[in-house]
Amino acid sequence: MRRSHVVIESTLGLLCSLFLPVVAAAAHCQDADLIVRNAHIVTMESPQKTVTAMAVRDGKILALGSDEELAGCASVRTKVLDLQKRTVLPGLIDVHTHVMEWTKGILRGQIEAGYPTVHSISEITREVGHRATTLNSGQWILGSGWDDTKLAEQRYITRQDLDPVSPNNPVYLVHVSGHLSVANSAALERAGVTKDTPDPQGGVIERDKSGKPTGILKDTAMLLVSEVLPKDPPDIYVRAAKLISEKAAEVGLTTIHDIFISPDEMRGYQDAYQRGWLKIRVQMSPPIGSIADAEKMAEMGVHTGFGDDHLKFGAAKMFADGGMGARTIAIYPPGVIGEPDNLGVLRWKAEDMQKAHLIAAAAGWQLETHAIGDRAIDQVLDSYARVISQLGLKDPRFRIVHGGISTPAVQKRMRQLNVIVDGNPPFVYWIGSWFTKYGPGRVRWSYPAKSYIENGVIEAAGSDVDVTPLSPWWGLWAAVVRKDLQTDQVLAPEERITVQEALTLYTRNGAYAGFEEDKKGSLAPGKLADFIVVDRDVLSVPADELKDVQVLETWVGGQKIYEGPRASKLPQ
Ligand SMILES: [Zn+2]
Repeated sequence: MRRSHVVIESTLGLLCSLFLPVVAAAAHCQDADLIVRNAHIVTMESPQKTVTAMAVRDGKILALGSDEELAGCASVRTKVLDLQKRTVLPGLIDVHTHVMEWTKGILRGQIEAGYPTVHSISEITREVGHRATTLNSGQWILGSGWDDTKLAEQRYITRQDLDPVSPNNPVYLVHVSGHLSVANSAALERAGVTKDTPDPQGGVIERDKSGKPTGILKDTAMLLVSEVLPKDPPDIYVRAAKLISEKAAEVGLTTIHDIFISPDEMRGYQDAYQRGWLKIRVQMSPPIGSIADAEKMAEMGVHTGFGDDHLKFGAAKMFADGGMGARTIAIYPPGVIGEPDNLGVLRWKAEDMQKAHLIAAAAGWQLETHAIGDRAIDQVLDSYARVISQLGLKDPRFRIVHGGISTPAVQKRMRQLNVIVDGNPPFVYWIGSWFTKYGPGRVRWSYPAKSYIENGVIEAAGSDVDVTPLSPWWGLWAAVVRKDLQTDQVLAPEERITVQEALTLYTRNGAYAGFEEDKKGSLAPGKLADFIVVDRDVLSVPADELKDVQVLETWVGGQKIYEGPRASKLPQ
């Protein structure tokens, strides 16, 4: 039984059955602002339902049907778009990104140390050395995106790599996982980190045999340096929000959730929205790092859903464990291969997590908690179960972010609690090599997809930018093929899903995770006119082409917000 469809359809069922909407809506369908016709419109209303025409007025969909059925919706002022059989999809939804963190990095001119830009530590040190020659002594060199598993040397970067090329400029390079960084000696000195500095709660200062820091800082230990970084110019946030809107529209995303954002970043979004720069829709998820944070959020008097269809508060975000790349996810024995005692880190004492969850949920916040290892997921599910029963919540839609090691036992509990997984389809391709460090038994249940559907767990999709690229086409492709970039091997082939199922993660299930299934996630009368035109029929192209799909046009609320270079081939 595919529960994801049952739940969502029963809600949609209030609106329509398969044929009623077209006829009923077409009857009072008139004076449309826009009619899209002669198109291959994949409505995502129910599997395989397609129509050729759609009428739009006041930012919403008026009717769907055949070209003939909708001809009467036009008046003299109606703009008619003949798409010459091109494919139209609902605007795509990414429920887990750190887009502002990413675009701020672009605006700062940070060193891009990710694959495939760089392939070795020596390339990174060359770039750092080059930057150092262009700066005054003491100025910071920042970068991000490096991944030890994709570097020729197959190891972490250390301060010893960076010190010779940048003795006088502090260097701080964040790993692609976001769960560890490397700092050179000058940066450690600025942060006051010495061999006597104790590991902070929930973090690790990696040390060599003599006890000296290697430069690698994991999880909360990263704060030691990140808190002494130079301040950004005040206008960076609003500019970053504008850049997000542009980048998202280019790849067909009309809604994104930005996770773990700061007050400055929220202000940036709000200012960009007021200036008319934010053309896509955004849900902002503020972080809770302590019980005091939860109390502060409750005192603020706003909660999930506050805002409007363009910009609103999403879920409250917490972290239960670390990352696979940093080998800090909380697992049950056996430990990481080569580190049998490493069962990862839990960031919260169970009772404290539960207290913070309870305070936030009682104040009206949807909860989303990062948990990758199965031990961490269990801790979060225990906490969710208590909060749900204590508050008597009927439809909380609490979310597990990542749900990396999702065993059958874990999935069963998710189903029982109606917990949604913010999964990451592109991880299998981009970071599948990290799964293997946890052993073949865990690879089988790493970032599953098919078993979620079979077990009735609703999964929405996230790129986790900049862990993987923003383009959802990587994730749609990876969900279908599940190939690991490094070995070209198919990881857990039983977890492959169809294109239709993968699209569901990026449309209907994304809308459901954000409590927006009455407004988006499919193309239906009354829903927001958020849709994209793509350059090929995604339902019938060979699977390998999915990653190459180009977005020709992106429309939000009936307005065209992006037109790709190849869109000119469309008759206007
Ligand atoms: Zn994330």
